[in-house]
Formats: sequence, structure tokens, C-alpha cells
Amino acid sequence: MHTYTPSSAAMARALADLCIDRLAMQAPLDSSLTPEQLSEAAGQTVTPTGLGAPQAVQLWESVLAPACLSVDHPRYLSFIPGAPSKAAAAFDMLVGASSVYGGSWLEGSGAVYAENQALRWIADLVGLPESSGGVFVQGGTIGNLSALVAARAAAQHRRGGRRPSRWAVVVTGETHSSVKHGLETVMDVDVILVPGDPRGRLTGEAIRTRLGELTDDERDGIFAVVATAGSTNLGIVDDIAGIASVAQQQGWWLHVDGAYGGAGLAAPSVRALYAGIEHADSFIVDPHKWLFAPYDCCALLYRDPVLARAAHTQKAGYLDPVTVEGEWNPSDFAIQLTRRARGLPFWFSLAVHGTQAYTDALEHTLSVTRQGRELIDAAEHVRLLVEPDLSVLIFERLGWSDSDYGAWTARQLDAGFAFVTPSRHDGKVCTRFAIVNPTTTVRDLADILDSMR
Ligand SMILES: *Cc1c(COP(=O)(O)O)cnc(C)c1O
Repeated sequence: MHTYTPSSAAMARALADLCIDRLAMQAPLDSSLTPEQLSEAAGQTVTPTGLGAPQAVQLWESVLAPACLSVDHPRYLSFIPGAPSKAAAAFDMLVGASSVYGGSWLEGSGAVYAENQALRWIADLVGLPESSGGVFVQGGTIGNLSALVAARAAAQHRRGGRRPSRWAVVVTGETHSSVKHGLETVMDVDVILVPGDPRGRLTGEAIRTRLGELTDDERDGIFAVVATAGSTNLGIVDDIAGIASVAQQQGWWLHVDGAYGGAGLAAPSVRALYAGIEHADSFIVDPHKWLFAPYDCCALLYRDPVLARAAHTQKAGYLDPVTVEGEWNPSDFAIQLTRRARGLPFWFSLAVHGTQAYTDALEHTLSVTRQGRELIDAAEHVRLLVEPDLSVLIFERLGWSDSDYGAWTARQLDAGFAFVTPSRHDGKVCTRFAIVNPTTTVRDLADILDSMR
């Protein structure tokens, strides 16, 4: 298994060819199979003696890969798609082949240096100080959780170790499920739900009103507020400046969840929406969403990394050699130790293309979104539900029931034409386009809208 023989050489070359083919082609949308269908088509794949490389490769190529949707298809507009640049996707292959340990400076200094340069670009977009820093983690879920764990530890330290009867964090209805899940299920922290404005934005004013309704005891437990820079369902940016001013007044930690929409910081046409983000104590953005990196990759940044390190550094005798003063250990900044250097594909693409190419690609998707919005406004069978901030268009097909949406979605996926799932807004079924892929065209949107007539 560990020697490079002629047969491992042939296997490696076959896989490299497949990678290159995948980068070169417009992959079909593909489909999702049932466990029974897969069991029938693939059978038992793990056996005592092995299938051999040719058969295992064949199995992947002809059965398993086509049973995975191509999230980078231009008409895959559900959830938040992915759209890795060729450079990022290609470099991911090399990262996989290179046995890089991304947890510590001692073991991965070159990788950590490169990742930190990519993080610096993001920190500058946010407006965080030179002393800020962080780590690339698996996704927004782990990024949000790690930030909030650091926030709570900092609050507890500031109180001299005194805990309130219940810790709590301020969120709103459009706050991502991962934030609420992390707080309630993982951290056992209460969420204080503040109603959003008519577009679902959390505002400073609404938080102040809600604070007036709480008991002293409830108020005492609040240690953070989460602002969303681009909500997943609606693509709306909260009133970050207003929220930041309440946070500052109350002594709360301000976490900004920009998993999807944080990318828009690099797009001048929408940058003003993020006013106040420079006050964030922590911030996340998923390059695997709108920054063209492959899965999985979340950039997590702290205004004061010392606070994060105090919360997250793991201590054990065998770890002493990596805990060196002045060295940047990525494992100190999130709930993980061993780590793939998952920021490297993103870094490589940034290094190759430069940041202007990112700005151009983001502005392109925003322009396609604006033109898509005009199509919706002009059509009689659909109606826009929420004025967009970024690159999500949420709309309804007039006269359709839940089952009409479901049937239409299934038909378009079966036909390999588009993947556009139903969503919900204000208790009503509807659908949405999430446009992060620079290869999605206005024509694609027009064709999909036509298929709803
Ligand atoms: C996608 C998303 C998350 C969760 O990120 P994962 O990478 O899926 O873990 C969190 N917040 C927002 C706003 C998101 O869009």
C-alpha cells in the first residue's frame, strides 16, 4: 500500500486524468439515488481482499460520482451552491497528496504562513486591526461555534469567573440554524430572539426594545450578539452598525456571521451595506460558498486572537513542543486540533489571480442577480418576495401549492436541467435563486423562470 509500484503509478495517473477531465468539463447536474438503488448498482465495496484500483476507480466514476449532485453546475441555484475556481480545485489535489499537518506552526509553517496571508486579505476587507487573526475551519457551523465559545470564555474571565444563572446570546429569526444549534444544543446557552424588520434584518433599535422587556437576571446573562452579513434564505445584511453600538454599550461580544454574504465585502457595489462590521469581535466567511474555494473551508477571524487562544488552546504534555511563544498555531483558535490546511486551495487561487479577479467575479454574480430580478419583475407568473441585498432572489410562483413546487423541482432535476428547491418565507412556500457561480447566466435564470409557466 505504501510503495510506489507500477500499479500505483497507473492508479495515480488514472486519478489525475479524471481530476483534469472534471476540471475541464461542464459536469452534468447528476442525481440523488436511494440507498436501495445504490446498493443494487454498487454492491459491497469494502471486502477483505479489495476490489483493485481499476475496479474501484470505475465504481466511483460510473456509479458513485453520478450519484452526487454537481454543486458547481450553473443552474444549481439551491441552498448556497459552490463554485470553486480551477486554480483552487486543482491545488486541492496537491494538498491532498502532500501530507501537510495544518494544526501547528512547528509542523506546517509554510502552509500556515500562506493561509494567514489569505486571512489577512479578509481581515482588511472587514477592517480588523493588524493584530487580528484566526484560522480556517471546516465550515460556518464550526466557525460560529468556535467564535461563540471564545466569546463566552472572555465574558467569564471579565466577570472574574462569575457565571450568570443562564448565559444568553441575542439572535433573530433569520440567524442561521448553526448558530442556534451551537448555542442551545452544544453550549447549553439560551438564545434571546429579537424580531427582525420587515425584510428580516436584525436592528439595534429592535434589540433595545427587546432588552426593555427582559428581567435584570436575563440581561445579566447576555454575553454576545450575532449579526448576519447575508442571511442564507434571503441574502439580507443586518443593521451591523446599529447592532455594534448596542453591543458596545452593553459590553457584549459582536460576532458577525458572513458565511455566505461576507464575500460581498470585496464587491464595491454592496460594500456600504456592511457599515459597522469593523467593530466585529469575531467574523466568519465560507470561501466554499461565494469565494470560489472547494469544500470545505471557513475563514474564522478574531479581533483579539489572545482571547480566542485562552479559550481554545489544548494542554497536554505531548503538546508542549508546539506551544512556542510567538508561533501561530491554528489549533489554538477553534475547537479542533488536527487540521487539514483547508485554506490552501483558496490561498493558491488568490495568489494566482490576485484580489481584483475576486472583486470582478463577485460583481459579475451581483449583476446577473440584478438582471434576474428584472426578469422576475417583468414576468406575470412570479413575484419577488423580498428586496434583495446581495445575490439571493426569493420569489413565489403565483397560484402554486407546496406540491406544485415539489413536483416542478423534481422534474427539473430529473431532466438534468436545473436544481432549484422550494423554500419558505413568512410561513409560505416559495423558491429562490442563490447566485454565487460566475458561470450562471441571465439566460439560465430566464430559462428556469420559463419552466415555471
Ligand atoms: C452556510 C451558512 C452557515 C453554515 O456554514 P457551513 O459551512 O454549512 O457549516 C452559517 N451561517 C450562514 C449565514 C450560512 O449561510
